[in-house]
Amino acid sequence: RIPTVAILGRPNVGKSTLFNRLAGRRLAIVDDTPGATRDRKEAEATVAGRPVRLLDTAGLEEAPPETISGRMRASSEAALREADVALFVVDARAGITPADRAFANWLRRARKPVLLVANKAEGRLGGQQAMEAYELGLGDPIPVSAEHGEGIGALHEAIAEAL
Ligand code: GDP
Ligand code: MG
Repeated sequence: RIPTVAILGRPNVGKSTLFNRLAGRRLAIVDDTPGATRDRKEAEATVAGRPVRLLDTAGLEEAPPETISGRMRASSEAALREADVALFVVDARAGITPADRAFANWLRRARKPVLLVANKAEGRLGGQQAMEAYELGLGDPIPVSAEHGEGIGALHEAIAEAL
């Protein structure tokens, strides 16, 4: 069976951009409108030389953090159920938000392997900004820039190790 890697996180953190980067193709809809990816997308990809099934998700709505609306929640829950490892994506530039914290708590309860991915970490301050995600208690943040292709090799290795 091909292992499944689900990409989760609140809207606009760059999940679909990361999905496209890992898939090596432009498959998901990347949009500046929060929550643009309404439906789950999947692709087969090669991660550290090994085939995986990638799932992109719609994410959670911005506010209020405790309420997770029906369809987006269903998308995240279904993907997490199928996942062998979850990539929990946060936005290093925006910093950690209440929605990220709520999402992190929800993920912790699921008892699945989670990799914390701090996206938009390109540039001089990127790595430093990514470290703020430590506070989520989900281990070492992996700084990446899905858009610029930075940190993707390290992410591949972390995924391969988690599988
Ligand atoms: P999603 O809602 O989580 O799927 O986010 P998208 O992939 O649609 O991206 C949301 C916005 O963030 C878009 O404007 C992307 O171009 C932008 N974005 C994605 N990845 C990066 C990145 O690594 N760096 C920067 N600066 N912007 C990014
Ligand atoms: Mg999306």
